[in-house]
Amino acid sequence: MTEPAKAKVEMEKLVSLCRRRGFIFPSSEIYGGLSSCWDYGPLGVELKRNIKDAWWRATVQQRDDMVGLDSSILMHPQTWEASGHVQGFSDPLVECKGCHLRWRSDDLAGDKCPECGGELTEPRLFNLMFKTFMGPVEDKASVVYLRPETAQGMFVNFENVLNTTRKRLPFGIAQVGKSFRNEVTTGNFIFRSREFEQMEIEYFVRPGTDKQWFDYWVEERVNWYVSLGIKRENLKLRPHTKEELAHYARECSDINYLFPMGWAELEGIANRGDFDLVQHASSSGKGLSYYDEEAKEHIVPYIIEPSAGVDRTFLAILCDAYDEDEAEGEKRVLLHLHPDLAPIKAAVLPLSRKEHLASFAKEIYADLRKQWMVGYDDAQSIGRRYRRQDEIGTPFCVTVDFESLEDKQVTIRERDSLRQIRVPIDSLKATLRAKLGGEDLFVLPDGGKVWKE
Ligand code: ATP
Repeated sequence: MTEPAKAKVEMEKLVSLCRRRGFIFPSSEIYGGLSSCWDYGPLGVELKRNIKDAWWRATVQQRDDMVGLDSSILMHPQTWEASGHVQGFSDPLVECKGCHLRWRSDDLAGDKCPECGGELTEPRLFNLMFKTFMGPVEDKASVVYLRPETAQGMFVNFENVLNTTRKRLPFGIAQVGKSFRNEVTTGNFIFRSREFEQMEIEYFVRPGTDKQWFDYWVEERVNWYVSLGIKRENLKLRPHTKEELAHYARECSDINYLFPMGWAELEGIANRGDFDLVQHASSSGKGLSYYDEEAKEHIVPYIIEPSAGVDRTFLAILCDAYDEDEAEGEKRVLLHLHPDLAPIKAAVLPLSRKEHLASFAKEIYADLRKQWMVGYDDAQSIGRRYRRQDEIGTPFCVTVDFESLEDKQVTIRERDSLRQIRVPIDSLKATLRAKLGGEDLFVLPDGGKVWKE
């Protein structure tokens, strides 16, 4: 397969669309913004929530071997001693401004990045974790950290989950939540920020079966992105070389995506061996093991960790969905968003603002809203209104015209194909449900006409 070298959309176009339509705003903008922090606006919060829901459905709801967790952001400081985070990031660090690899400055011979020859940031004693204080006294004993990953909350709850769910190996814990990293360099919009969200899985397996489960999860996770409409040719696996593997990792592979700035990590999948449970067992003095009924012995499971970023998935989904074409004789920008992800599932558009038509359309709008996020737009020409919905990825527009008052039918217009059908209002919900579920309905229930080609 030949790899595409360049994404089809520039970052500026995405940033501008996100701002213009209320997907993403710079944080604290009225005060001049806060570097690398972003606020998700009315449409962004819907898209983001839909991404997390899709992940949760595929990862927890539809699987027998996974359970969810929501652990707290602040954890006992010993957690970060045991995990290696306190120690591991306390060196004088420099970061390459080009490839973002970080180096201990006292290990470097010259003043350029050994990997790519790029310029380096000034060295500083740097720990990636945000530090704060618990309680009123700001002293060493009250230091706590904002978690830099959600993973540790799952490791330290291993016994709790095992005892309360009675899961047998292999099984996994899944968690979605905020993480914080005081990144040396940030940028590329929401790709790298200091506050972000992760969707992480810790999958516990019998030692010896870890390679097989690692391969399984790599494939599973790639398929998840493809199932949400991301093109396979825009995804690439990047297995880590022996030299770059973390000391505890047995194998690691990134799922890279072709972002506007080039190929970059969307998700990392690691075979962490027994490192985490062994570390926390020895640090806490609690035996974090699993009693294997067959072998009649305690074993320490190995862990496979697929770790994805919500914000990077958001960006990848937008890049993949963005398109410009011509519709109904006009140029349009559109987002080919998967119906599960679209912030607004349908928009009700009355052809006129006249009272009797408007109140009729509003009844339809109120009814649809019981089930979905639905929009209502009666401003300007119908063409303009279609364009506005296309630009935010609304899969269907429901047009209410004067004939609707007589025949109790409305027109559904499909975003991508531009096809239109008239359906009885009684079948509108059933039709939308089927279409949003991915069915290509040509013949409609209860006397609706077929698609007008
Ligand atoms: P990078 O090399 O890009 O800094 P990483 O290897 O440090 O990423 P992991 O620790 O593997 O990242 O975190 C898992 C996932 O969390 C990443 O694949 C990414 O999607 C997300 N992520 C990590 N750091 C950030 C960040 N600063 N901003 C947004 N998302 C992030």
